[in-house]
Amino acid sequence: MDLYEYQARDLFEAHGVPVLAGIVAQTPEEAKAAAEKIGGVVVVKAQVKVGGRGKAGGVKLAKSADEAQQHAEAILGMDIKGHTVHRVMIAQGADIADEYYFSILLDRANRDYLVMCSKEGGVEIEQLAEERPEALARVNVDPNTGIDEAKGKEIAENAGFPAEQHDQLAHAFVQLWTVFSKEDATLVEVNPLVKTGDGQIIALDGKVTIDENAGFRQPGHSELVDEQTEDPLEAKAKANDLNYVKLDGQVGIIGNGAGLVMSTLDVVAYAGEAHGGVKPANFLDIGGGASAEVMANGLDVILGDEQVESVFVNVFGGITSCDAVANGIVKALEILGDSASKPLVVRLDGNNVEEGRRILQAANHPLVTTADTMDAGADKAAELAHSARTDK
Ligand code: GDP
Ligand code: MN
Repeated sequence: MDLYEYQARDLFEAHGVPVLAGIVAQTPEEAKAAAEKIGGVVVVKAQVKVGGRGKAGGVKLAKSADEAQQHAEAILGMDIKGHTVHRVMIAQGADIADEYYFSILLDRANRDYLVMCSKEGGVEIEQLAEERPEALARVNVDPNTGIDEAKGKEIAENAGFPAEQHDQLAHAFVQLWTVFSKEDATLVEVNPLVKTGDGQIIALDGKVTIDENAGFRQPGHSELVDEQTEDPLEAKAKANDLNYVKLDGQVGIIGNGAGLVMSTLDVVAYAGEAHGGVKPANFLDIGGGASAEVMANGLDVILGDEQVESVFVNVFGGITSCDAVANGIVKALEILGDSASKPLVVRLDGNNVEEGRRILQAANHPLVTTADTMDAGADKAAELAHSARTDK
């Protein structure tokens, strides 16, 4: 889950990362009150989970509370790259002498963490990495030891900072590591990390992604969920304990086991190339127990996606055998009744497959087609999605 800047700022503050005052506001009046409370020059910043707000006009300096109110009026409701601004943060203005870049991210390929740091912050980091890769230091961090003062100094040195700044920067990096590790984050990015006119180091803009799989030991994180912008289908899936990710495509996918579902996505994407370029519409792993209820909940979520034209159910019977899965599908279609309106291609294999196929055949549901192999099922589902789309 990505956090808003104001949420990242609050986490930074809680873990001792130097930040400036910031108050979130939902109306121009609240923005004015916040600016009065902070006093002096403030910055009105659109709160959207997308980068490049500054360039899009979502970051504005205000010299008075009245001016802050006017900026908030203009920024609230603004569309920034498809995200509507519902809140602004009123932040204390900074006297910026220098802008730097710092981030910690999960490096899956190396099974550790990667720190990226540059003396040239404020700019788009992708652009810097491409045009002047030598200006962006990359330092691997051992998850067991993290960033201590010594590691922090190594990072500052690698990024080419002068020696007199190493201690101060290292200190900020250690605090940022605390945020990363204590909050179970997969990304902590500060752009810009600034040096002020009076020589302080401050995190001026923060981006944090937290690992939702760690939610069980992070009770505070549930408060960070923004229901306003959460995808309604993903929210519904979460409420039903389903492992669902919405994608941009037309073929709904249900499978058991993350590995099987991922390969199903690949096979469907490949099959789709021959059928008008249709793509998988989602990832949905119903896990081990393919009961009627789980199947019905899964289908219900997938069919709630307006883009979906067909569904491919690809299940390998193991502990839950194919006959139980087949009964689950038949009962799920009964439960859903008329709300199940899209064709379903079902491929079963594994434990007790003959009985599973017999059950589906006996039920003879008009929406269900069976397939013997994963490739054939993917092809059929893609074909059905394509013809439904061209019929429109
Ligand atoms: P982003 O465009 O979404 O990354 O938004 P940022 O919060 O990073 O702000 C963009 C730029 O606005 C920064 O790189 C700064 O140059 C400038 N900026 C942000 N806050 C302040 C501030 O308090 N004072 C000044 N002078 N400039 C600021
Ligand atoms: Mn920024």
